[in-house]
Amino acid sequence: MNPSIPGPYLDPDYPPGRASRGGDGFRSTSRTRRHLAAAAVVALATVLASAALTVLVLRSRSAPWPPPDWLFAACDVGQGDALALAVGPAAAVVVDTGPDPAKADRCLASLGVRKVPLLVLTHFHADHVDGVPGVLHGRTVTEIETTDDPDPPRGAAEVASWAHAAEVPTTQAAAGEHREYGALSWNVLWPDAAADRNPDLTRPKPKPKSDSKHSHRPRTSSHGGEEGSGPNNASVVLYVHIATRDGPIRLLLTGDIEPPAQHAVLAAHPDLAADVLKVPHHGSAYQDPDLFAVVHPRVAVISVGAGNTYGHPAARTVDLASGAGARVFRTDRDGQIVVAGTALHLRVATRRDTH
Ligand SMILES: [Zn+2]
Repeated sequence: MNPSIPGPYLDPDYPPGRASRGGDGFRSTSRTRRHLAAAAVVALATVLASAALTVLVLRSRSAPWPPPDWLFAACDVGQGDALALAVGPAAAVVVDTGPDPAKADRCLASLGVRKVPLLVLTHFHADHVDGVPGVLHGRTVTEIETTDDPDPPRGAAEVASWAHAAEVPTTQAAAGEHREYGALSWNVLWPDAAADRNPDLTRPKPKPKSDSKHSHRPRTSSHGGEEGSGPNNASVVLYVHIATRDGPIRLLLTGDIEPPAQHAVLAAHPDLAADVLKVPHHGSAYQDPDLFAVVHPRVAVISVGAGNTYGHPAARTVDLASGAGARVFRTDRDGQIVVAGTALHLRVATRRDTH
């Protein structure tokens, strides 16, 4: 399948929630959009200019947390992924939960998230799903959406058990699905039931339009991979648009997809540009360089545990991201990472003292 991606995702009702379109039964209410005012924060800021676009980086323990206009957060949960997309006061769509329920719970609490209209679990590896009880703890979770591949079976069974106990319905993501939650909307790009999940990577694909020096063919073998590649390549991939007053912010959330699935996604979407890239698979060395060249992100987020035994992130992958023009943030060094602001005034704030 080759789902069309509607655009430009500008919400006529912006700012969000004032008259939310409220897809899937969820209606966000007004979200405070005050700018960070603390002069102390400004003193700690550095400004990175990219053409007319600005990424403001804030590192402060004294600033309000989270920034009132936060849009996206990568939790510091050790080796794993736990992401949040703000959809209204005290509410967020959560994507993965990390390996530790306590850390997932603490992160969402630090963001003030009490309602989760949707919890997406990209795949069933423990570093993405074992924190589910922490997300469920004390929160209203309306729906859980998973990949279509119940592998590893232990993870799939545990998720089913937790969902059943909490009386949360579960669904499966599929390429072509489109959802909207106020100013937030996305298309599911992967998994695609009709696609070859282990394609021949030597097959030519459309040349990226980016001028990145990294736009060469992948060096990987066609059927290589790492342990757990099957579940990794079944990861749910979300192409998220957030409407802001001066344009959409686009995020590509990639789970742990490896070059076979990366190749398939790029083949279906050769113009897949995004402002923020959640780097696949914790920055593993096993990446399709074209992903970075095509996506050409302003911000790359690597969710990774300090001192992990996998060698994540690989220096080569960090170089791919920075070589494509991105400012790279890593949860192992930066702690919790939050994206806030608008398309023309994108800000990244980090904080290490969340737990
Ligand atoms: Zn993982």
